[in-house]
Amino acid sequence: MKYRTYLLLGAPGSGKGTQGKIIGAIPRFFHLAMGDVFRALDTRTAIGQKFIEYSSRGQLVPDAVTMELLRAHISHLVGLHTFKPDIDALVLDGVPRNVVQAQIMSDMIDVRKVFHLSCPDREQLVVRIRKRALKENRFDDANEETIRRRLLTYDEESKPLLDFYGPSVVRDVDAQQSPVKVVRDIVSELAE
Ligand code: ADP
Repeated sequence: MKYRTYLLLGAPGSGKGTQGKIIGAIPRFFHLAMGDVFRALDTRTAIGQKFIEYSSRGQLVPDAVTMELLRAHISHLVGLHTFKPDIDALVLDGVPRNVVQAQIMSDMIDVRKVFHLSCPDREQLVVRIRKRALKENRFDDANEETIRRRLLTYDEESKPLLDFYGPSVVRDVDAQQSPVKVVRDIVSELAE
């Protein structure tokens, strides 16, 4: 059985995490952010070191490692009955992050809708990311060069997912609106 899934897709700073947490608070929706799974790793482990190595350069962690971690994490959540796939929809934020990951995950997730948090104003993203760096202690948000690299990684690797999933499931959401309006737009699609 595949998991009923909604994806949040958008550049760093577009508000995926903020929206994901809000949607995850609605009964029967389970929010999972790949970045949070990585950040919770013990940095003394080999995989924790890999995460630091790649994320500090603004790059994606290699697909094989990422997919293995995701599968293990989801199995764990299912085993604990924290995520209940028979009644909960999965809301994924930050994964899949490229087409290879989407192909690997296609036996696991049934993607109902992809919410594209669109923020064409790159400078607004940079401002948001800098604010977050101060508040959340994110080392990958700390310097200008890494931020630019992450935006480039998004354009090159993640944006092609919009074509991969196609217009029948992709919904563009204006991420430059206030957070409450972004929530409204996503929730009205989820409630359909
Ligand atoms: P943001 O929401 O700002 O883009 P995330 O918290 O989702 O950041 O991710 C932080 C870092 O974790 C990424 O820059 C990347 O190095 C790593 N990462 C997160 N998700 C994935 C993924 N699906 N594949 C590979 N690396 C990932």
